[in-house]
Amino acid sequence: IQWEKQVRNSAQIHRSGGMSVLVTGAAGFVGTHVSIALKKRGDGVVGLDNLNNYYDPSLKKARKSLLNSRGILVIEGDLNDAKLLAKLFDVVAFTHVMHLAAQAGVRYAMENPNSYVHSNIAGLVTLLETCKSANPQPAIVWASSSSVYGLNEKVPFSEADLTDQPASLYAATKKAGEEITHTYNHIYGLSITGLRFFTVYGPWGRPDMAYFSFTKNILQGKPITIYRGKNRADLARDFTYIDDIVKGCLGSLDTSGKSTGSGGKKRGPAPYRILNLGNTSPVKVPELVNILERHLKVKAKRNIVDMPGNGDVPFTHANISSAQREFGYKPTTDLQTGLKKFVRWYLSYYGYNNRKAVQ
Ligand code: NAD
Repeated sequence: IQWEKQVRNSAQIHRSGGMSVLVTGAAGFVGTHVSIALKKRGDGVVGLDNLNNYYDPSLKKARKSLLNSRGILVIEGDLNDAKLLAKLFDVVAFTHVMHLAAQAGVRYAMENPNSYVHSNIAGLVTLLETCKSANPQPAIVWASSSSVYGLNEKVPFSEADLTDQPASLYAATKKAGEEITHTYNHIYGLSITGLRFFTVYGPWGRPDMAYFSFTKNILQGKPITIYRGKNRADLARDFTYIDDIVKGCLGSLDTSGKSTGSGGKKRGPAPYRILNLGNTSPVKVPELVNILERHLKVKAKRNIVDMPGNGDVPFTHANISSAQREFGYKPTTDLQTGLKKFVRWYLSYYGYNNRKAVQ
């Protein structure tokens, strides 16, 4: 009873026309920011996260405490726990699901391939099964990834481009997720929006990502490894600042339309969309390092090696005209400004001498 009361309180809507959103992966990087933004504008938010130890669990716990301090409950549980999901939908008639829980990272797939299947495929299906049976059915917005474009060399990447050359198992599970969600849209009338995020960075970010681990190593005086691609070409990424991604997530939720089924039965055609959320301005990785050096006021020790072919793609570049058309998506933070904010957060969280940093 106490649990139900907490869930209901957290899901409470405080604006007219607001939504109640189940945010999966709420203790993750993107989930934390999206949950806070939703709560701030008066929407109800309940988080779900298994707080796994893919990276520093203490960082996830700190994000969870931050969310708690904003009145957002984060339930510790796994996407594959169908009973828990059903119980949540019994307590709250969620209007929307923001599905961000996943096994992220392209290289870890070489070490633990099954964790990708567990979270990105089996977990996704368990969530969709719950949503399909819910009454009313929630609209679903979920995170796919720019990695689905794989080794495609036509830039910028548009949603209709081929996604037939995944470079990692991670990319393959995201691509599978697009097909799986499309099927649930056809059969059960679930409203689905898949967002292809392009290298998201910012405060409370992910320690496994290059900008984050570079910062840590530069401060500790350790070398950083910079990959280069074919013919010694620099790798480039369409780095997208977290606040721009949050705007894209909220814009998607606001325009996601209604699911048209209930209790597992379809009543009519429901919307299905795939949208790029990027910055449309790729930056070469060595330039990222230059910017970090300037903000940190420390020189990096560069170790430049050929890309080992374990999941990375040579470059990414988003065409964002679809999201622009759908809800006026327009990224506004350049890498220089965004990294400044990241570095400020990093130094305040870990301290200049990096004592708290994970190994
Ligand atoms: P993250 O790892 O920080 O967040 C994901 C969260 O999901 C984690 O807190 C993790 O504990 C949780 N989780 C994982 N498996 C779970 C499961 N089975 N049950 C419950 N919780 C589980 O990652 P992020 O950077 O915040 O990414 C959010 C989403 O966006 C992910 O789907 C990711 O694949 C996608 N994405 C991210 C980026 C990026 O650059 N950050 C780029 C493209 C796509």
